Amino acid sequence: MSRRMLVAGNWKMYTTSGEGATLVQDVADLLEMLDVEAEVAVCPPFTGLKAVSTLIELDHLTIALGAQDCHWESEGAYTGAIAPRMLADLRCSYVIVGHSERREYFGETDETVNKKVRAVFDAGMTPIMCVGESLAVREALETEAFVRQQVRIGAEGLTPEQAARLVVAYEPIWAIGTGRTPTPEAANDVARSIRATLGAVYGPPVAMQVRVLYGGSVKPENAKMFFEEPDVDGGLIGGAALKADSFVDIVKAAR
Ligand code: PEP
Repeated sequence: MSRRMLVAGNWKMYTTSGEGATLVQDVADLLEMLDVEAEVAVCPPFTGLKAVSTLIELDHLTIALGAQDCHWESEGAYTGAIAPRMLADLRCSYVIVGHSERREYFGETDETVNKKVRAVFDAGMTPIMCVGESLAVREALETEAFVRQQVRIGAEGLTPEQAARLVVAYEPIWAIGTGRTPTPEAANDVARSIRATLGAVYGPPVAMQVRVLYGGSVKPENAKMFFEEPDVDGGLIGGAALKADSFVDIVKAAR
């Protein structure tokens, strides 16, 4: 079963809409010179989505658009929140759900992550569901059990078709923005375990279609090592996605 690699940039709370438009244009200009095999996505802050979406449409860029979060309701009195259908309206294809920064600073739980995952599918988009352990969990040798539980709850109640389209990003919390990473083999072990967890619920053929990304201090220098692992289908890139050349160098490694 061949899965198309996905390299997605998570711009976090960086870039105004003008800066975001410049960044995506720079990425597109660099990609144009390449024979790119991977699917490429960028996830700007909410305020940048419109400008980036317009640019992608007008210039026919082969870059997918994603958001970094959403509410699970389709509308309502939730001041400050954004509904999935508002993101679909801006031609988002992906929504990052359950990023560790959302879990840590905004009280997201596996249960709210699950509601969001289902809401994103219901709105016709694809969730990039983030999972990953803290250093304490890692040191207690409980990584796989912890991540399996996050996956089991986060991906509960999907149709087999939805489950097959799911993207899971394995992002050890201790690796995000720190310059530290697991070995590629260790990342692959967790990716394989994520696939097996989904296989136990939805069946192995569905699990074989799920794309599992690695995220956490991916740079041009180390990307290839992770992308060569059999169960790693690309990357979720934070800091290195904010510079067009480093992001595109990571895309190049996804072959
Ligand atoms: C992230 O925040 O999703 C991430 C992977 O960040 P970084 O690449 O900066 O570690």
